[in-house]
Amino acid sequence: QTAKFPAIKTLEDFNTDYQPGLRRDVLAHLQNTSFVPKAENVILLGPPGVGKTHLGIGLGIKACQAGYPALFDTAAGWVNRLSDAHQRHGGLDQELKRLRRYRLLIIDELGYLPFDADAANLFFQLVAARYEQGSLLITSNLSFGRWGEIFSDDTVAAAMIDRLVHHAEVLTLDGESYRTRSRRELIETT
Ligand code: ADP
Ligand code: MG
Repeated sequence: QTAKFPAIKTLEDFNTDYQPGLRRDVLAHLQNTSFVPKAENVILLGPPGVGKTHLGIGLGIKACQAGYPALFDTAAGWVNRLSDAHQRHGGLDQELKRLRRYRLLIIDELGYLPFDADAANLFFQLVAARYEQGSLLITSNLSFGRWGEIFSDDTVAAAMIDRLVHHAEVLTLDGESYRTRSRRELIETT
């Protein structure tokens, strides 16, 4: 598995009945993967357990099937990867160039762990390098208004959001955690 998906989650297995507020038209549009060659982004926002990672993987699988290479990692994983590249002279530029062959980069769980200034800087460079060049799909538990907390810097956060949302679909998920829900249903029916 070259895309490094942590699990196989398909859009077909995603039950939209649990997400009455989710824009079906937008999801249907994203499924046809035409956002990828246009280098548009996808931002999935919402609390834990509502299916952000599931949708991110599902869309990533669609992209791969359509012939667009995708690569999945957590936000912390991406920062580690860029930081390793940065240790080498000229390595960051080289790595950002290498990543261009992936038409879709999936960045999961932005916001669970705050970034220090170096990490924020590396992450910003990734977003800037991808701007109008290649798609990013980002999931976060924090609304845009709170991204300053992730980067400990409101200005950097604003500059990042500005680039990300210029060409993007933003989907907000909500409701009860699917994990707690299935646990509760199990308890109530036994
Ligand atoms: P998040 O990334 O938002 O924290 P996940 O995508 O990891 O949530 O979802 C938690 C679990 O619940 C996963 O096993 C996922 O496949 C499942 N799940 C969440 N929402 C749905 C849904 N609407 N339909 C089917 N499975 C779902
Ligand atoms: Mg998740």
